[in-house]
Amino acid sequence: MGITIGKAEDNAFVIKDAEVSRYHAVLTREANGDLLLRDLDSTNGTYVNDCQIIKKKVIAGDKITLGTSYSLFVSELLKSDNDYSDEFARLKDVYADYISEKVHIQSKYQFKTRLFQSLPFAVIGIFGILKWFLGNATNSLLIISILVAISAPVFGVYFGARQSAKIPVLLQNLANQFKIDYVCPKCGTFLGEIPWESLLNKKTCSITSCKAKWICT
Ligand SMILES: [Zn+2]
Repeated sequence: MGITIGKAEDNAFVIKDAEVSRYHAVLTREANGDLLLRDLDSTNGTYVNDCQIIKKKVIAGDKITLGTSYSLFVSELLKSDNDYSDEFARLKDVYADYISEKVHIQSKYQFKTRLFQSLPFAVIGIFGILKWFLGNATNSLLIISILVAISAPVFGVYFGARQSAKIPVLLQNLANQFKIDYVCPKCGTFLGEIPWESLLNKKTCSITSCKAKWICT
């Protein structure tokens, strides 16, 4: 199996060029996912990034030249076979980053909310009031202490509420970006909040007109 390249009509990738042999080369994907290009004993040779090869491991960005004039990129061959496995593999990190960022936003702002609402400042005021009861403080210090003891919880609740109000906006922004990034590499359809591993098990895009292959081994 693999993508055969050549002048003959029964190749997977047909090239009508004077210097291209009838069966010129073949691109296969190994069991481990590596791409291997092999020259099929062509008359004018196969080159990868301008070096002649008999058999070579290649990547999507490599340039293949058949004979002296006809060039194409490995990625073009893959696309002709509906192979989007390299692009799909990159979505693994997109999904993982989305989940961890979501958890991060929730835990970070919940912590801040609790922090503000824990009212550590009120303790200072209460301490001043206690000091007055023990006869160690002036009346003006008592007034300041009472003000602190009352206003600290008020501000604490106010800022705590303000912090937690940011959560929906941040989560919405994150979700919007995720909808842009977590899409089928071929048809661009949003893949939903479905774990990458679950999509991998489906092997292809479920959009009928697309059917991009997400795994090709
Ligand atoms: Zn698709």
